[in-house]
Amino acid sequence: MKTDFTHCESIYWVFTQLCNDKCDHCYNSSGPQGERISAQDCFRIIRNLPEQVDRLILSGGEPLADRAKLYLILDEIQAKYQGRTQIMLQTNGDLLNGDILDKLIAKGVTRFDIASIDRYHKLSGARLMTLADLFESRGVNGDDHDPLIEKAHYLAENPLSWGYWGATEDMWLGGNWARGRALEKNIWLRDPSHNFCAILSGAKGFLGGTDLPQEISIQLWKINPCCPGTKFPLGDARREKVADVLLRASKSEIMQRLNQGEPWKMGESVGVTEAHAHARTEELQNVCLWCDEFFGQHQESAILLP
Ligand code: SF4
Ligand code: SF4
Repeated sequence: MKTDFTHCESIYWVFTQLCNDKCDHCYNSSGPQGERISAQDCFRIIRNLPEQVDRLILSGGEPLADRAKLYLILDEIQAKYQGRTQIMLQTNGDLLNGDILDKLIAKGVTRFDIASIDRYHKLSGARLMTLADLFESRGVNGDDHDPLIEKAHYLAENPLSWGYWGATEDMWLGGNWARGRALEKNIWLRDPSHNFCAILSGAKGFLGGTDLPQEISIQLWKINPCCPGTKFPLGDARREKVADVLLRASKSEIMQRLNQGEPWKMGESVGVTEAHAHARTEELQNVCLWCDEFFGQHQESAILLP
């Protein structure tokens, strides 16, 4: 585990929950009435990001639905990191056109991920070929290669790239996080043996020192060890340096267990056995729901006050 968090490998930031779509499987309840934060709060968050960030993934909601703010964020990110951070945009692609793409490239976005090519999104993937032509016309490489896997080599050869994916029955619908609209609409994964914590997007490695990239998620302003998000955030990125929040988390035995991708062991330091955690997960049918229950019952240990 790291002891200095002024350098972070990857930050996934949902800066808006505004979206032109309103999908049933949306884990953060984004939509036309989705929650937003002010541009001033976004600037505060950027000021509080670590001094060095290898990769910043801007997401939503739909980032292009909150476009004026996105442009301000990109300018502020460039001013802070001077091109040293890879900026990735995760979008449903519905609102993307040539002018917007030109502007995004000029403002430093080098990777575009279209996350809506499926029958569950409004346009049901119908724009894929239009988007492919658009990217090709601007020299954005369409080799659907995950830049997170062999990033150094791949990025050197493809400074501008894009990829796409979509919801499938087993991955995003059957495998959904028990969060947001997916929970409301009852399309979340009922599999007590599945450990979200130990996969990319889970908490494993959020403090570093594992075989996964060190990644944290910021949902609007809430700093989380994982994308599903814990019941209480680790801290408020508007008010505190992310590096300080992670340093504080690294001293918690509960968080150390989550960092190892072992949510069933996170209660050991406060007398909650692994056997009890498994039994409750079995009843709740999902490890993140067990995590919520544990945090709710052990707030004094789980909430990490500055
Ligand atoms: S899943 Fe994506 S496109 Fe659908 S409502 Fe959520 S943020 Fe919008
Ligand atoms: S078990 Fe908790 S920490 Fe792990 S992915 Fe789920 S909500 Fe996040």
